[in-house]
Amino acid sequence: MCGIFGIHGHPHAAEISHLGLYSLQHRGQESAGIVASDIDGNAHAIKRMGLVSEGLSIADVDRMRGDVAIGHTRYSTAGSSTIENAQPVLARFRDGHIALAHNGNLTNATEMRRDLENAGSIFNSTMDSEVLVHRIARSASDAPEAKLADALQNVEGAYSLVVTIGDTLLAARDPRGWRPLVMGKLGDCYVFASESCALDIVGAETIREVEPGEIVAVDREGLRSSQPLERKESRRCVFEYVYFARPDSRVFGGSVDRARRHLGRRLAQEHPAPNAELVFSVPDSSNSAALGFAEESKLPFELALIRNHYVGRTFIQPTQAGRDAKVKVKYNAVREVLDGKSVVMVDDSIVRGTTTRGLVAMVRAGGAREVHMRVSSSPITGPCYYGIDTPNREELIAANMTVDEIAGALGVDSLGYLSLEGMLNSVPDGPDGFCHACFSGDYPTPPPTDPQKLRFGCGC
Ligand code: 5GP
Ligand code: SF4
Ligand code: MG
Repeated sequence: MCGIFGIHGHPHAAEISHLGLYSLQHRGQESAGIVASDIDGNAHAIKRMGLVSEGLSIADVDRMRGDVAIGHTRYSTAGSSTIENAQPVLARFRDGHIALAHNGNLTNATEMRRDLENAGSIFNSTMDSEVLVHRIARSASDAPEAKLADALQNVEGAYSLVVTIGDTLLAARDPRGWRPLVMGKLGDCYVFASESCALDIVGAETIREVEPGEIVAVDREGLRSSQPLERKESRRCVFEYVYFARPDSRVFGGSVDRARRHLGRRLAQEHPAPNAELVFSVPDSSNSAALGFAEESKLPFELALIRNHYVGRTFIQPTQAGRDAKVKVKYNAVREVLDGKSVVMVDDSIVRGTTTRGLVAMVRAGGAREVHMRVSSSPITGPCYYGIDTPNREELIAANMTVDEIAGALGVDSLGYLSLEGMLNSVPDGPDGFCHACFSGDYPTPPPTDPQKLRFGCGC
C-alpha cells in the first residue's frame, strides 16, 4: 500500500507535498519521494529510503523549484525494498518528462511488461508502476489526459494515480475504484491525496473523490474531467475502513472513524462478552473499533496496552529473545488496569497471528483473569492482489485453522470475528460495491498469472 499526493499551481509545491506526505506516512514507511516540475519543463526528484522525516530533509525540499509536484510514500513488500523501487517514477521522453506515483497493484503487469520488453523497452525497477510510464510514452495522442487514457486501456487491477506530464497534473482512479483518492482546493490550487487527512494538514478544503474511471487534468487553463475508462462494478477496498486509512480521514466519501465505531458496535452485538469488566484496544489501529465495542456493551474503555511510538522500522529481532521480543519492544501491558479482571481485547484484524499471540501472553502476564478477543473484521483467508501486502495463504492463520483452533493457538478464553455481512453492513455506503476478496475469496479479477504473487514487486 502507498500514499500519494499532488498539487498544481503553488509556488511552494514541493514543500506542500512534503507536508502532505507526513499525513500519509501510515500508508507506507519504506521510502518517500517528491518530484517537482516547473513551467520550463524541468523536473527534479528526491527519493529516499525510510520515513518522510528521516529521508526528505526540509533543506533539500526547499531547493526544489516548480509549482507542480507529486509525492509518494511506499509500503514495504518482500524482496523489493530498494531505492530503484521508490516513487515517484521520473522519466524523460520525446515530449519532456513524465512523473508518476501509484497506489494499488496491477494484476496484469507481468503480461504488459513482457510485451514491452519484447518490443525493446528497458526497465529501471521491478515495479508494476513503471509499465504505466512506458505506456504513456508510447501513446500517439497529444493531450496529457489522452496519453494517460491510452496508457490505461486494458490495464487490470487497482490504481489511484497522480501523474505529471510536462506541467500538467493528472489524477486517475481505476474503473472499480479500489483505492481512495480525494480532491481538494488550497486557494486557487488543486490538490489530490490518498486520504483527506493529507488535505487537512496543508490547509486544503476537500471537494470530492476522484471518481472510478475518471481522469482529472489540471493545467494553467484550469481543471478538466473526463471518463475515458468504462466504469465497472465498484470494488472499494473494505480493508481501508477496517485497518488502513487514518480515522481522522474521509475516504470513499465516508468517515473512517464512524466506520470503525460501527464495526465495533456490530461486533459487540454479534459477539457480546457478558461477563467482561472492561474493553481495550491494540493501539492504534483498533482504537475506534474498541470504543464502538465499549459503547455498545456499556463497558468501560481502558488503556491496557501502551504502544511505544519510537520503535524504528529497522528494529532487528534479537535472535535468542525469540518471537515475543518484537512485540515487547512495541507494546507493554498496564498491570493496574488488567490485574484480576476479565477483559475484552479488540483488534481490527488478525493476519498471521504472531503479534496477537504475543499480546495475549502479555495481557495474561499483566494479571488478566480471562481474555476475550474480538476482531472487527472477518477472518482473512486469502492474499490481496490489489495493493495490500497480505501474505500468501500458507501464512494466514485463518486460512488454515477454524475459529476454535485459532482461539487455542492464541491462548484466549473466547474469540469472535465480525461476520462478512456484519462488516459490509457497518461501513459507509455498504454493503454493496466493496472488495472483500481476502475475507470471502470472491476476487473481482482473475488473480495474477504469475505464481509468485508480486514477482515484480508492489508498485503501490
Ligand atoms: P498478527 O497477530 O496477525 O501477527 O498481527 C495482527 C496485527 O497486525 C493487528 O494489530 C493489525 O492491526 C495489524 N495489521 C493488519 N494488517 C496489517 C498490514 O497490512 N500491515 C501491518 N504492518 N500490520 C497489519
Ligand atoms: Fe482490500 Fe482485501 Fe480486496 Fe485487497 S483483497 S483490495 S485488502 S478487501
Ligand atoms: Mg493493529
